[in-house]
Amino acid sequence: MKINNSLAKARWESLPCECGKGVINSFPIKECLHCKFEQSWLSVPQKNFTFNDDQYDKNFKLIKKQTRTVKEITLVRGERFQDVIGWNF
Ligand SMILES: [Zn+2]
Repeated sequence: MKINNSLAKARWESLPCECGKGVINSFPIKECLHCKFEQSWLSVPQKNFTFNDDQYDKNFKLIKKQTRTVKEITLVRGERFQDVIGWNF
């Protein structure tokens, strides 16, 4: 898998983790941006994947059954923290 727009270190990675810094028994006091952005990053596929890409005509009749393999994606990042908002191919 080729990942375009990847960074050696995104800005969000410098944010400190603030988990567990709230009052005991009232978790979460504050959303931890570090962990939120880390989750987004971890949800990015790291390996090639295949999906169903069957072709239909305008009457929704199946023309051709096929699958497509994605080998390259491009990350979409937030401006402020460079966090991963999404990705496309
Ligand atoms: Zn955290």
